[in-house]
Amino acid sequence: MTLLIMVINHNRLKDKESQTFFFMSLFMLIWVDFAYLARIFGNNTNVSETFLRIAWTATPFLFYTTYLTSNYLIGEKLNKHISFPVFLITVVLGLSAAIGKHVISGVTFTSATLDIIYGDFFFAFMMGIFLIMVATILPVIRKKPSRKVLIFLVGVILFYISNFIFNIFLPVFMDITYLYYLGDYSTILLLAFTTYAVLRHELFDVKVFAAELLTVIIWGVLFTQVLLAADSTQLMIDSAVLAVMVVFGILLIRSVTKEVQQKEELENLARKLKHMDEVKNEFISVAAHELRAPLTAIKGYLSMILDGDAGKITPQAKEFLQDSLLSNERMIRLVNNMLDVGRIEEGRIVYQKGYAHVSELMRRAYTEFRLEAERKQLDLRLEIDKEVEDRVYVDPDRLHEVIVNFLSNALKYTEKGWVALKVSNPRSGWVRAEVSDSGVGITKKEQKKLFRKFYRIRSEAGKTIGSGLGLYVSKLLIEKFGGKIGVESEFGKGSTFWFELPVSKKKS
Ligand code: ADP
Repeated sequence: MTLLIMVINHNRLKDKESQTFFFMSLFMLIWVDFAYLARIFGNNTNVSETFLRIAWTATPFLFYTTYLTSNYLIGEKLNKHISFPVFLITVVLGLSAAIGKHVISGVTFTSATLDIIYGDFFFAFMMGIFLIMVATILPVIRKKPSRKVLIFLVGVILFYISNFIFNIFLPVFMDITYLYYLGDYSTILLLAFTTYAVLRHELFDVKVFAAELLTVIIWGVLFTQVLLAADSTQLMIDSAVLAVMVVFGILLIRSVTKEVQQKEELENLARKLKHMDEVKNEFISVAAHELRAPLTAIKGYLSMILDGDAGKITPQAKEFLQDSLLSNERMIRLVNNMLDVGRIEEGRIVYQKGYAHVSELMRRAYTEFRLEAERKQLDLRLEIDKEVEDRVYVDPDRLHEVIVNFLSNALKYTEKGWVALKVSNPRSGWVRAEVSDSGVGITKKEQKKLFRKFYRIRSEAGKTIGSGLGLYVSKLLIEKFGGKIGVESEFGKGSTFWFELPVSKKKS
């Protein structure tokens, strides 16, 4: 009964599953209570039989509402071709138990045990119940059930099993009727598990209920004391205490309700934020995609003009065009990083894995960026150990992207001095690539946050273009390839960005 009130109280029967659950509990109460009464009034067989009839009439409806609740819980739309026959069976079974002697033909009461004399329709009645059971279980099995539904299902199955054992198998086939009541009480299992399933995700509402229950009990106790007050002084004191408790009780319930409402609001907000985050990611990926095509076209035309395909150009025009080309390259890198983030995070990226030599990729990046370094008058160096073991199993183009991210950052955040690329074996089985610079450097505090999504150092963000995605994407990629990534830096002196990957040995 308490469980029933709890669910009604919980959402004031707003949704379908609690409405059907309410009726399920109601039929359950009718069944259990009247079956109990039938035993109590066992020696008056007429009354007992009437009670039993009521209990048995409620039974098919209990199974029907269990069927409905189960369907709503798994979020399945009712299939009319199934639900209508099930409803029909329910009504026929209910009527047949209520009227005539076809299901229950009579009762006998010997030595404190109630025995039911079954009518000729009894077997059909049981078959009907069995059909409703099957209709309940089938859709649940077909659909992969969630935790919530699983809990409910455990209740239903326990209920069915004990029902089958105590109400059908033992009395019908073994003539053991004195355990019959265990079958009736098994409904409690169904009720308990269902309540748990329904409330599972809204435990806080139970908190409101608990507060309300406690308050009402206290009021009840105090009110009884008022009624039982021995003299007028006692009456006054008790009344005053009751009045104070009424006020405090209301305040208590209000504050708990408010807390629950706030929690619900927070949950809603969190849901909205998550949705907005998804929309934002989608926007980034669409925008990046649309930007890439024109940028690539610009790159192509600029290269053609620089190669002299459009006729002779003056040295100054060439310089301007080279600058444009570099800026364009930067934009392409940025857009690529924007595209990669979504793909990597959602696991949509397809890696073209193969063997690569880190030194070769570093050399390639060095060549690509020499011009940019020259234009900034930076000394770009390449230092590779001759004997270095640097064969790795990665997606070579993606690893190249990481190096490019490091190197373009180093050039971007260095105004004078040098940028160096290094490859070495820090310890056996590992290869380490470093990009160092004599640039602005990064404070210890900032270093910790660098590899986060969209993170840009505030003092730098105004001066340079960037998205704060390069390092984040690099980290995701390196970790995907089984490596480590990091930074060492001193503010004002320069930085070293590095990654280490396991060497894949050549088969000898
Ligand atoms: P972006 O460069 O597009 O802003 P990144 O993820 O590549 O994004 O870098 C994040 C931030 O880390 C940069 O905004 C910059 O402040 C800092 N940073 C990266 N590389 C260096 C470097 N070599 N020297 C100083 N700061 C750097």
